[in-house]
Amino acid sequence: MGEGILINGISSIKQLKRYISIPKKEEIVLEKVVKIHPIEITKYYLSLIDKNDKNDPIKKMIVPSVEEMDLSGDYDTSGESENTKTVGLQHKYPQTALMLLTNRCAAYCRYCFRKRLVGLQTKEILKRVNDATDYIKKHKEIDNVLISGGDSLIQPTEVIEKVIKLLFSIPHIRYIRFGSKIPVVFPDRIIKDKKLLEVFKKYSKNKQIYIITHFNHPKEITKKSTEAVSKFIKSGVIVKNQTVLLKGVNDNPEILSKLMNKLTSIGVNPYYIFQCRPVKRVKNHFQVTLYDGIKIVEEAKKQLSGLGKRFKYMMSHKTGKIEIIGIMGDYMYFKYHQAKNQANVGKLFKKRINKEIGWLDNLK
Ligand code: SF4
Repeated sequence: MGEGILINGISSIKQLKRYISIPKKEEIVLEKVVKIHPIEITKYYLSLIDKNDKNDPIKKMIVPSVEEMDLSGDYDTSGESENTKTVGLQHKYPQTALMLLTNRCAAYCRYCFRKRLVGLQTKEILKRVNDATDYIKKHKEIDNVLISGGDSLIQPTEVIEKVIKLLFSIPHIRYIRFGSKIPVVFPDRIIKDKKLLEVFKKYSKNKQIYIITHFNHPKEITKKSTEAVSKFIKSGVIVKNQTVLLKGVNDNPEILSKLMNKLTSIGVNPYYIFQCRPVKRVKNHFQVTLYDGIKIVEEAKKQLSGLGKRFKYMMSHKTGKIEIIGIMGDYMYFKYHQAKNQANVGKLFKKRINKEIGWLDNLK
């Protein structure tokens, strides 16, 4: 796929040092980290960091850390390779196809679950959109497509239009979704590109387009990101949000409820809170235990209206998309919301509480 739009952001530790102080010892390690997983930060997103706060949540999400040298975990925790049907196209659940349109993002989140491919040479990205649409045409059970990456909206507007046009020309496709963090990290890409909004407006008339944003912290809801969201809504798109529960960022009921409340007030539907996956170089410094996660999410819900708590707390597991329901007695309860094995959809199950564990595989 195309190279994508220009960011003109921070793409080296050397550049980063002009904005944030980094001790020499740390700098040597960070140079190693970014050789493995590149750094990219937009100037806008960098400006949201409070330099006087060493625990700033934006900084934790976007600035490389020495903790990324920790290799515990896995690079493909949801079995994406097993679900790949043709290069750049995954089909795990009957109704939904997933297209990986690009390996690029406007900014590389340090907790990314696709760390194995974002910003890197990879063979997992779609080469020709037609390869994906050929597969989708043959599979009439697919009624919607999630377009992801990387960040789908990093692609030039012409590519985005081509993808929408091709997908909407397939009779059994009823709606599509774009997964994007661009409204959060680079809202000007939306605010200033009239053509992009015209494209959304034009194609939203007959079939529905959804944008799935990725706000994780109330600090990300600024005048600019609100304007980007509002422009999407005015162009006929429905905006929903996925949040990842992240240690040291939003693992706090007050922060989480404030985030959901603010999102609701700017017209974004809270959709999912995801359990952080046990990804290499991510797990140890970002994952909250399931026990703590349930407590935090439940406490946050108490502070929200019905509209604010429409989200589900989920785990994207190899076996399916699992709702993390709650705790009763000595057990944690879960439910298959989607399942690789269709017989499991809707199935409830329980696991004995273990307060140290952050992922299903390790529970008894
Ligand atoms: S924008 Fe999405 S795909 Fe890109 S690094 Fe962040 S979480 Fe990963």
